[in-house]
Amino acid sequence: MYDIAIIGAGAVGGFVARELSRYNLKIVIFEKEVDVAGGVTKANTAIIHSGYSPKPGTIKAKLNREAIEIFPQVCKELDISYKKTGSLLIAFNEESMEAVHKKYTRGIKNGVKSLKILTKEEILAIEPNMNKNVYGALYSQDTGIVNNWDMAIAPCENAVDNGVALRTREKVYRINKSEDTFYIDTEKDQYQSKVVINCAGLFSDEINQMVGKKSFKIEPKKGQYFILDKNQGSMVNHVIFLAKSENDKNTKGMIIAPTINGNIIIGPSSQNPCNKEDMSTTVFGLNKVKSLAKDVIPNLDFSKTIKTFAGLRPKVDFAEDEENDFIIEEDQHVGGLINVAGIKSPGLTCAPSIALMVKDIVENILGKLQPKDDFNPYRKKVIRFNELDEEERNKRIKENPLYGKIVCKCENISEGEIIDAIRRNPSPTTIKGLKFRTMVGMGRCQGGFCMCSLIEILSRESNKKRLRWDGDKNSLGDKSMEKMDG
Ligand SMILES: Cc1cc2nc3c(=O)[nH]c(=O)nc-3n(C[C@H](O)[C@H](O)[C@H](O)COP(=O)(O)OP(=O)(O)OC[C@H]3O[C@@H](n4cnc5c(N)ncnc54)[C@H](O)[C@@H]3O)c2cc1C
Repeated sequence: MYDIAIIGAGAVGGFVARELSRYNLKIVIFEKEVDVAGGVTKANTAIIHSGYSPKPGTIKAKLNREAIEIFPQVCKELDISYKKTGSLLIAFNEESMEAVHKKYTRGIKNGVKSLKILTKEEILAIEPNMNKNVYGALYSQDTGIVNNWDMAIAPCENAVDNGVALRTREKVYRINKSEDTFYIDTEKDQYQSKVVINCAGLFSDEINQMVGKKSFKIEPKKGQYFILDKNQGSMVNHVIFLAKSENDKNTKGMIIAPTINGNIIIGPSSQNPCNKEDMSTTVFGLNKVKSLAKDVIPNLDFSKTIKTFAGLRPKVDFAEDEENDFIIEEDQHVGGLINVAGIKSPGLTCAPSIALMVKDIVENILGKLQPKDDFNPYRKKVIRFNELDEEERNKRIKENPLYGKIVCKCENISEGEIIDAIRRNPSPTTIKGLKFRTMVGMGRCQGGFCMCSLIEILSRESNKKRLRWDGDKNSLGDKSMEKMDG
């Protein structure tokens, strides 16, 4: 019998597992995909929001502020790539400048520090590629960028290191509760647990309905993006948000930002609800993003696009008069079931503070938790060879010559790094999993040159003879490979 069963190994499930692994609890995480970070966490803008956007008094506003306080320490402990870039919420006319002032006031109410209204001249001094017609902006020093895949991989690795059982490829399809025990049926087995924590992202409504009453519904909203080559990386220095006036539906959430890997990310579009599995991009959606971005940074060169992709926001169907807040609470009808649902933006930012809130709810259910003596808060990421200085590189190559064998020439990733990633727990079993951990194949050629070597290394290291190609239809050049038994 487990004390805690967590459903979903995205950023939220990962941080919840890691937080609870500090205590003497028997914990399991179920993930339906072959790897962690396979849901909403996989495809988003990867911005660490400073917290001026959420409505004051909401759970979002509180958790965003708390997250900003703890984020640097969390990233240090888990070796997550994170950079504070600062952001500009820009306006091109008086009407959208009103929205900028409203966000400033909101930010002050939310306790956001270092907010400042900038003039046109001040903006152009720090963002020289900006459209010269810019009117004004809200500068926020605390905004940052992060590696979104690491936001699930790192806490999951650390949780596993601290004794949590991670069961990938185990979709939960039925939950029953009898007296104080949940009976959880997955594709492989039946498990028992005292508490169930529903961190299933887009599918959290379905998990809730398996055991609870229908209390919310998730309606995915798609956002589409461009990633531009690193040679466009200096086009913006800050995260650029486009302020929208009251009636403007077009600019919602539009961002142009540097990525942690040195590229530029542009998007997302905002579209009507769609299917939960529909990650396709469309000419219509991408063209909308492109034309808005060109209004802001006219010299952006879209011929340098290396990838387009889509992400799905897990939007709850709240009534018009209800606040579009996170749902983080023990289910009103089923004691011991904790729903962590509707975690859209700034959910990546808030994952560490959501975990702290969930821990308090668990304590309300199970009583005071006993800290473990041997909890290890630290995890090291895969060595990034191209981040090392000459001396350190030579030292590594001497210890292991595979660090001198470059597999991905675009991103300068060595075979040593790939093997380091494969030998971790959880170990990636797909090319995508390798990409998320090492950035291999994420560069200009998108794996065109290194794919065969990657397949060879992965099959050799995982000792598998038969491999099945599982073409990813929606992203050019992004094929994933799945192992089969044998
Ligand atoms: C377009 C877009 C842009 C965004 N930009 C930002 C941003 O810049 N900054 C920010 O802070 N936030 C951003 N967000 C929000 C952020 O991405 C999410 O809040 C966060 O990733 C949610 O993580 P999660 O763990 O709740 O969900 P997920 O990552 O979806 O994890 C849920 C997991 O549950 C698994 N699962 C589902 N059903 C089952 C089942 N039956 N059995 C077992 N496993 C199951 C899924 O496979 C999945 O891995 C953005 C979101 C989108 C869509």
